[in-house]
Amino acid sequence: MVKSAVKVVVRTRPTASFASKNLQIDLDQKTIEAFIPKDNTQGLINNQQEHWKFQFDEILHNSSQEDVYDICGREVVHSVSEGYNGTILAYGQTGAGKTYTMLGGQQAYKFRGVIPRAISQLFHEVQSKPELSYVIRVSYAEIYNELIYDLISPTPPSDQSGSIMIQDDPKYGITLRGLSQSIVNTEEEALNQLFEGETNRTIAAHLLNKNSTRSHCVYTVHLESRSRVESSEKVTISKLNLVDLAGSERTKKTGSEGLTLTEANYINKSLSYLEQVVIALSERGREHVPYRQSKLTYMLKDSIGGNSKTLMVANIWPEPNHMEETISTLRFATRMMRVSNEATINVE
Ligand code: ADP
Repeated sequence: MVKSAVKVVVRTRPTASFASKNLQIDLDQKTIEAFIPKDNTQGLINNQQEHWKFQFDEILHNSSQEDVYDICGREVVHSVSEGYNGTILAYGQTGAGKTYTMLGGQQAYKFRGVIPRAISQLFHEVQSKPELSYVIRVSYAEIYNELIYDLISPTPPSDQSGSIMIQDDPKYGITLRGLSQSIVNTEEEALNQLFEGETNRTIAAHLLNKNSTRSHCVYTVHLESRSRVESSEKVTISKLNLVDLAGSERTKKTGSEGLTLTEANYINKSLSYLEQVVIALSERGREHVPYRQSKLTYMLKDSIGGNSKTLMVANIWPEPNHMEETISTLRFATRMMRVSNEATINVE
């Protein structure tokens, strides 16, 4: 079987009304079986099956933020500290827990999400290598309707032309011209930039009347390190992209006309291009990977596949009234693993 370019983990949002009639989770086998009664198939795409069986790299059910980080973050961040690029993406319908997974809950320190923990680990790892000198920069971009916005140094609302351009530089890889990168000397400074970006995102959403669940957010930590001992001037550049994707719910649910439909179309397209890129990467011998079809995939071009570690957390909301979206998410996640999405699935 083809090896996937992406590790896929499913995380369930905790709920008191778990869809126990519809979902069976086997944590040992890492499988999820979904049952849709015949009389409940309205709205599902033609010929949907009534019984699905999915298998994933990992299933996180009632898992703490710490456990989620151990599975989803630690290895990717370590490889970034070693000089490779890495990407962690959160996918799922609005409300399924993407932001909770990436940023975390506000209530207490122990609820912090993947991004604050990744920042912390990265600083610890580089600081534990006295033979290295390093510079860490962060950037925070929002992709909304295929335009890129800077969340750390936002342009004024009067100039929302989205003038940030992606360049594929032979030396530096993918760079975003016009997107600010702030040098951060401590974990706290990196976190402050993150929170400032979040605040700017909320303000811009309000000013421009755009729904913040309808954009992709990419917080990137850029690591530049050089050896203090070797005489060579060799600089290693790596980056970690932490991506909170736009809600994956389908168009008919989000509304009908105008902006909403435009937003939904952009989201559907970019998520489907993301899938196409991952599939192309997983197919041996396939030369052309269609990165340039969307801003998201182009931006992640040098951080998905190859030597880069890529992980996707598929967030599901396992309540009976979200079964349609849950199955849609599980199918997408399965396709990202580059395995057939028929009823019974085995992974290499
Ligand atoms: P999304 O980003 O996918 O739209 P959110 O992360 O905003 O969803 O989650 C929706 C709500 O559910 C929030 O109030 C969040 O705090 C809560 N939530 C999601 N996942 C969890 C979890 N694993 N544990 C506790 N609360 C959660």
